[in-house]
Amino acid sequence: MVTIPTVTLNDGTAFPQLGFGTYKLTGPEGIDAIVAAIENGYRLLDTAVNYENETEVGEAVRRSGIRDELLVTTKVPGRDHGYDETLRSAAGSLQRLGLDRIDLYLIHWPNPRVDRYVDTFRAMIALREEGKVGSVGVSNFTEAMLARVIDETGVVPAVNQVELHPYFPQAALRAFHAAQGIRTESWSPLARRSELLTEPVIGEVAAAHGVTATQAVLRWHTQLGSTPIPKSATSARQIENADVFGFTLTDAEINAISGLERGRLWGGDPDTHEEM
Ligand code: NAP
Repeated sequence: MVTIPTVTLNDGTAFPQLGFGTYKLTGPEGIDAIVAAIENGYRLLDTAVNYENETEVGEAVRRSGIRDELLVTTKVPGRDHGYDETLRSAAGSLQRLGLDRIDLYLIHWPNPRVDRYVDTFRAMIALREEGKVGSVGVSNFTEAMLARVIDETGVVPAVNQVELHPYFPQAALRAFHAAQGIRTESWSPLARRSELLTEPVIGEVAAAHGVTATQAVLRWHTQLGSTPIPKSATSARQIENADVFGFTLTDAEINAISGLERGRLWGGDPDTHEEM
């Protein structure tokens, strides 16, 4: 089992430097994969209402027998934006998870045209005050949206989970997060595999450290100061993906990997893309 180091969030929470994505892990096989991930050392789990697997995640947490060591993330979907709607959405998530607390609660997408993300965040702060939520954060927020939430609520989100991989390193947004004390989380950290893992530059960096291409990419994330949440249904790959803290990339290697930048992979621009 790998021990994954932590960083401290702006609310004092000890937060893993690498977590586990669960999108598409559903049914009995999904539960087995999530239980395996916990046994392999993952402590941060990432789900969402829209992944339709909160029940599976909650069951895996119970089977692990170490609920108190785990940080369970779920997310408010677009259709539940608004103050009262968010309170109801959280109650539904808690019921499906079968837990008495959501450790990290995120707004899944800002949906600016709907313009209710500030009220949504206010409800999340109230849930935190009630003890039903541990940390409050957001996902897919731009710098301007973060600034507005901070300005209107006085609370700095603990986390912003965004698309981030070597094709889209998000340098400007990461700099803003660092200045504000917001932890960056990387979704699709392996660019959903795509052709990323066969990029020659990544192969060269991996060979220099005697690690796999995946390990080189995930170490790049952690050294940028972001928490990647790779998903794998396979125990051997889960172990490979978590075992990235025994080597250190040079600045030149990090810059070489960042040089693969070419933009978003799927056009999920938070200013225009909506998810309900
Ligand atoms: P990802 O983690 O970048 O890539 C997952 C893919 O890579 C799967 O096909 C997996 O296959 C494969 N893989 C994993 N480890 C591997 C290894 N060591 N070697 C070769 N292939 C490997 O993509 P993702 O699932 O899109 O993103 C991760 C998580 O981010 C999601 O599960 C979800 O929790 C979160 N997410 C959030 C948002 C958001 O809007 N907030 C959006 C997208 C994703 P196997 O399973 O077969 O190993």
